[in-house]
Amino acid sequence: MGSEKAGDEVLKQATHALSMLPLCDRCLGRLLAYYGYALHNEERGRALKTVLSMEIHRRILAGDEGALKELEQLAANACGPLAKLASKYVGEVRCNECRICGGRLDDLIYELCLKALNALKNYEVRTFIVGVKSGSSLEKREEEVALSLGLESWETISREIKREVGKRLQLMTGLRPNFRKYDVVILVDLDEGSVTIQPQPLYILGRYLKLGRFISQMPWIGRDGVKRYVMSVEESCRGLMEVYGAEDLKMHASGREDADARMLGRGRPLVVELRKPKRRFVNLKKASAKASRPPWVVVNLERYVSFNEVVRLKQERGVKVYRLVLYVDPPISDEDLVTLENEFRDRLVKQRTPSRVLRRRADIVRERTVFSVKARRLTPHVIEVLVKCEGGLYVKELAHGDDGRTEPSFSSVLGKEVSVLFLDVLECLSE
Ligand SMILES: [Zn+2]
Repeated sequence: MGSEKAGDEVLKQATHALSMLPLCDRCLGRLLAYYGYALHNEERGRALKTVLSMEIHRRILAGDEGALKELEQLAANACGPLAKLASKYVGEVRCNECRICGGRLDDLIYELCLKALNALKNYEVRTFIVGVKSGSSLEKREEEVALSLGLESWETISREIKREVGKRLQLMTGLRPNFRKYDVVILVDLDEGSVTIQPQPLYILGRYLKLGRFISQMPWIGRDGVKRYVMSVEESCRGLMEVYGAEDLKMHASGREDADARMLGRGRPLVVELRKPKRRFVNLKKASAKASRPPWVVVNLERYVSFNEVVRLKQERGVKVYRLVLYVDPPISDEDLVTLENEFRDRLVKQRTPSRVLRRRADIVRERTVFSVKARRLTPHVIEVLVKCEGGLYVKELAHGDDGRTEPSFSSVLGKEVSVLFLDVLECLSE
């Protein structure tokens, strides 16, 4: 640009573009969108055409013959103020259609807004973003034009449509565009002329209680194709799908107890993920009722969270409190109870993968700490033990020892055979 005046280069580019091909105000403004701040493309394009017409008019009045020729050349492509000037000096012109949008861009944006409004009717939404499917023929045509004009950068038509549709939807509906956290993506397909709503998954944090035994956390289908347990916590949660108008549901939990163990106390933390929900702002008390199967499964949903909570939940080990009812043979003495409590105070336990899950999991050694044990005798052979330990400890194996795969165990410390009659999880505590 060198010593040229500020306005010269931009006007030159506009003149060059309009001498080559027809462009509407929006498309001209968009191709030169990197000049001018806080201007709409339409304003920018119209302003360029206006200044061009003024400059040509000035030259005509100054007797510049070349100016008339230039006017003839530009008027049909530029239309607007240049066409009006032409009608005074060189006769009426028929405006050519914009090479990029065919003069349809305004209508297109309007139509897309109407379609979006209509599609949004079926969804509960507060925040949104607009997306435009890339690779449309409009986008390709625009790129061809821009490159033929020697432009290196420009604002794309997809970006303008995103912005304009977003702005108008906000005005029409009061919904907020929010790029960080949005309820739906309003996806525009320019080739199809269609608008689809893509609801983002919904995550709800809560806790579940299992008040009965033989309930699995997830549906458990055996190798024979038969369901192992009649009920599962996840299936219970599926009652939420109807409430939220969701297409699918996935349950994420912080660890898992065995199907034959009850989950008591305040319950185990879980996050319910609802996929493609139509409703998002359901009262959680009402939702909790739909997720529960009293009296066996009770789900208490606490609050709506982000996906990060799922990650946190999966990583959290926490502290667990278990209640075990054990059968001990030969009978157990008072000294035995004291030994148990003393031996398992802040005791590190090494556990090879239990033989009962070896088929599904690699044989590794896991180390977990037992913080404390409290034991009392119910009958000469039966004791009740409360165990407070790190999450992830195989607590049944802690009791019976799993043929030495868990060391130390109640069985190895007592030198007696121990078998598990009942197991309950009393608490899942955060670290
Ligand atoms: Zn256009």
